[in-house]
Amino acid sequence: MKKRILILSLSVTIIGILLISVLYTDIFYRKSVDTAKDQLKKYSNFYDSTEVFDEAGATALSEKLGGIQVTYLLSDGNIVADTLGESGVSDGEEISEALKSGEGYAVRADGGGKDRVYYCFRLSVPVQTPQGEKENCLVRLSLTLADEFSAFSGALPTMIWFLVLDILCCFGFSWLVSGSVLKPVERFTKDAATVREGEIRTDTPELKPIAKLMNEMNADIDKKVARIKEDSRLEKLILDSMEHGIVIFRDPSDVVLINKTAVKLLDYEQNEPIGLFLTDKEISTILSDREASLVYRKFSNKDYALRFTFGEDSAVLLMTDVTETLAASRSKDEFIANVTHEMNTPLTSIRGYAELIEANAVPPEKIGDAAKIIRKQSDRLSNLIRSIINFSAIDSDALPAFEVNVSDVIGELLPGFEPKIGQKNITLTSQIEPNVKVITRRERLVEIVNNLISNGIRYNKEGGLLDVRLTGGEEPVLTVKDTGIGLSEEDKTRIFDRFYTVDKSHNGSGGGFGLGLAIVKKICKREGWSLSVDSALGEGTKFTIVFHQKKEETK
Ligand code: ADP
Repeated sequence: MKKRILILSLSVTIIGILLISVLYTDIFYRKSVDTAKDQLKKYSNFYDSTEVFDEAGATALSEKLGGIQVTYLLSDGNIVADTLGESGVSDGEEISEALKSGEGYAVRADGGGKDRVYYCFRLSVPVQTPQGEKENCLVRLSLTLADEFSAFSGALPTMIWFLVLDILCCFGFSWLVSGSVLKPVERFTKDAATVREGEIRTDTPELKPIAKLMNEMNADIDKKVARIKEDSRLEKLILDSMEHGIVIFRDPSDVVLINKTAVKLLDYEQNEPIGLFLTDKEISTILSDREASLVYRKFSNKDYALRFTFGEDSAVLLMTDVTETLAASRSKDEFIANVTHEMNTPLTSIRGYAELIEANAVPPEKIGDAAKIIRKQSDRLSNLIRSIINFSAIDSDALPAFEVNVSDVIGELLPGFEPKIGQKNITLTSQIEPNVKVITRRERLVEIVNNLISNGIRYNKEGGLLDVRLTGGEEPVLTVKDTGIGLSEEDKTRIFDRFYTVDKSHNGSGGGFGLGLAIVKKICKREGWSLSVDSALGEGTKFTIVFHQKKEETK
């Protein structure tokens, strides 16, 4: 900046000096021409008409006038005498002017690098020339002048002095300017660069608008930065609160963004490469092929779908917990396998007997037995179908619930079990508190009571005990307890699974399909009741349901 001020001030003054010099030279030159003209006119008064109009007269006049050039001319321009030895005919402008109007001036270069001012006047009286008496003769006086260039070069030394002075002044000026103008600017720049908080201030009035503008801009920038920070904080919050893992990366060791879930799942440490990307061969291949792919991996006992997508120079990994989806699809497969298995057993039996009868392979006296077996297996098949329908109907049942009298439901169902109880010599005891009511659908309660009591009979011992109790209060409790075969610790955890039967050998005989307790569990879950089992192998089993009360649906 200082340098620029110096160069600028130097250039301005040099150009200025040059211009002024040229201008002055011109003015000076014109002035000298005018002065010379005046002088020559005054000199013309020294002409003496009595003198002879010849060489001697001209020389005498020149000497009188300090040696200037004097020329005597005839009216046709013929030179009669000239003190500088000019001869012949002169046709200068001054001569034609003088002939026209009595006097004339001209300025011409004299051929020797100088300019010359000519003044010519016409004589009013005839004069005696060497050629005789002549009228209208002319006298021309002339002076040499310094031409414009010589005037300019004459002024050069002075100009050089001026230039030296100018350079010194410029140095002084730029020093002063830097002191008085640049110093505050420098201080201001320094303050502006170092100020982190608060406003930029200045005492220099000229800098105040800039300070104001910069403060406004800073405030604007602060606001924008705060907004960006808030946005990125929110984005991070959203990403971190996601249960999906997200990683944006360029390569395994250049991670652009990773959320909390992904950090945890991938055991990621900052500035370290993602281990899985290097150790897992399939994933390494995906990363080198850069083709969108989906793979499944287990992380801490959970199944995750790893979806890789690739952009220009970066890639995105989305990790989704698919444990439940996979489990659902597995359980769906299992369910279908179990249903087909359960259906196949009675169907095979029915088909076998039907073929035997068709082929007349059953003796007539045995036909009744075969028909009985076919009917029994058909019953079993329809029981299975009903159980499956019941099981899946629980989810889709959107009918409203009402207050149902549990005591009445149990009281109505118990007599229906008497034949089976009698067959096994079981002693049934029951303590049913009257008018115990819960909000539900009646058929759900019927399903529960039928399943628990029929299991209590089916898995009881010959001559065993079966106790059914219902207590009321805030949270009514139903218990069905038997003194039957009981359950092992492992079975206790599995009996509520669909199609789970402790002893597969009882399938197709006294046992069911393993759907009864699954239905009970499903109903309890839907109604918000707690279901528990207490059992010891060989001693008996007790099922307890606590009916957590809920409000009657208004549907
Ligand atoms: P199932 O129709 O086979 O009885 P459940 O779902 O009702 O199906 O019962 C599942 C399995 O739990 C039964 O196969 C049986 O082995 C066992 N189980 C159920 N109730 C009892 C009980 N009271 N005592 C002993 N085992 C039982």
